[in-house]
Amino acid sequence: MPHSGGETQKLTDGPLVHERLITDLLDRAVERWPERTAIDFLGRTWTYSQIGDLVTRAARGLQDAGLKPGDRFGLCLPNCPYFVVLYFAALKAGAVIVNFNPLYTESELTHQIRDSGTRFMAVPDLAMIHDKVENVARASGVEKIVLCPMRDMLPWLQGVGFELFKRRDKAKIREEGLHLRMKQLLASSLYPDHVDRRPDDVAVLQYTGGTTGVPKGAMLTHGNLAANSEQMLIHTGGCGSRQERTLGVLPMFHVFALTTVLNYTIEIGAEMVLLPKFDMEQVLGTIKRKPPTQFFGVPTIYIALNALEKERIPDLSNVHACISGGAPLPLEVREAFEANTGARVVEGYGLSETAPIITCNPIDGLIKDNSCGPAFPGTIIEIRDPDNPETLMPQGQRGEICARGPQVMKGYWNRPDDTRDVFVDGALRTGDIGYLDEDGYLFIVDRIKDVIFCGGYNVYPRVIEDAAYHHPAVMEAVAIGIDDPYRGQSPKLFVAPREGETLTVEELQAFLKERLSKIEMPREFEIRESLPKTMIGKLSKKELVEEEHKRLAS
Ligand code: AMP
Repeated sequence: MPHSGGETQKLTDGPLVHERLITDLLDRAVERWPERTAIDFLGRTWTYSQIGDLVTRAARGLQDAGLKPGDRFGLCLPNCPYFVVLYFAALKAGAVIVNFNPLYTESELTHQIRDSGTRFMAVPDLAMIHDKVENVARASGVEKIVLCPMRDMLPWLQGVGFELFKRRDKAKIREEGLHLRMKQLLASSLYPDHVDRRPDDVAVLQYTGGTTGVPKGAMLTHGNLAANSEQMLIHTGGCGSRQERTLGVLPMFHVFALTTVLNYTIEIGAEMVLLPKFDMEQVLGTIKRKPPTQFFGVPTIYIALNALEKERIPDLSNVHACISGGAPLPLEVREAFEANTGARVVEGYGLSETAPIITCNPIDGLIKDNSCGPAFPGTIIEIRDPDNPETLMPQGQRGEICARGPQVMKGYWNRPDDTRDVFVDGALRTGDIGYLDEDGYLFIVDRIKDVIFCGGYNVYPRVIEDAAYHHPAVMEAVAIGIDDPYRGQSPKLFVAPREGETLTVEELQAFLKERLSKIEMPREFEIRESLPKTMIGKLSKKELVEEEHKRLAS
């Protein structure tokens, strides 16, 4: 391998993880802790042995309905027990899970169904989601829709405008034969046929925008996902004999929750307390009812909890593993959250292509401010020259973050060219810029595609956003590049103030002048009540960029 930067670029060659099937995690948990509560969903509970039984029945039911090894099985569900049962059942039958966000638009659904070749698809019997999915599914070649009854969720769901099917629609559905009901699926008490599977088989297609272009399916194998779960276990130090409890508010169709809320929680026999959506009242009530010991969130969740009136902020001092990931966690947000709740938050970093975690600050060791921590166990982080990726950068210098480890994907589904481009010497190129300090802690500077090229300089939006977060009235901040006739591009800053606070552009300008260089100073400012978020709750830079393009074109 052509290394130029030397050994300092290597972090840890930590312990090797075991090669396992993802279903082994559940089988082992059912065997070890049959009587433990596995899932709490809005107050109703299931033990590990009950979940094990449901998975066995559903796997048989899916085979009887024609699901074959290698078939793509779409999960288009909010967090609920069906997600867990169908995930393991389809994997037992040898299928490949395709995660769908139930709130995708028709064109997003169409692209993903067609690109993945999804044959079976699980959908809730909520009119709003089902109707949209059914129309698209029919037109895109889905052969069976598994209908998941959401009656248990009803009182809460109606509050936010969901409706079950009407009787008339139900009758229509029965006629069509396209639908498979959960009841039908769970009817047989026979064991499923044995399917030969290997850790190297693809288990999940996780769709991601990647660094460019249309969403592509990252092929995560059983081994990748089981490895990241085991790496979590090594990282947290395990839980001894006590049962942990995970607050499952991040959606499991996103890779961060797939590993933390689902796989890792099952691996350690913990209880997953599932919430179908982030709703503040639900979150607060659930924390009171079932105090968590594990909490996994994206920064906007920490920001939202910080924004509560002091007396409503929950006590989270019993939380042992509190991890933030998915987007940068501003230091002010972490500090305020820790002071407010008593939890110790560690920031991690990863991406869909790495199942996802590749670095994380230690749960009990040294946290470095603004760092995403050292490499996860068994992972190697390399910093490479973005213009010449064969070359490693000298220690301490910025470059493209690349990763090797058992959690790194096999490649992109049906896209050999993209797969070739995303690897260099066998290491995955993340598309993010960062550097390693002398202790091997990773600092992320920004995403390559978000860098603003301003008059010959590289301006990093994150530097501007971090400066804005220092202002006590700022709740959310996003900087993007806008066209500039003289400099090519220049920064624009969007800000949402905290509730009850007012903020003017002049105030912000004066505040940032002290903290930013001239070239980094935004040319335009926009103050809004709130900023757009992605479906997992990350602040959506993409949406703001698209809005700007439209504005300019009109
Ligand atoms: P996704 O695959 O959609 O989950 O997005 C992965 C991307 O999120 C990474 O490539 C990073 O750009 C970003 N990301 C994830 N975690 C962090 C973090 N802790 N700090 C900064 N960016 C992050």
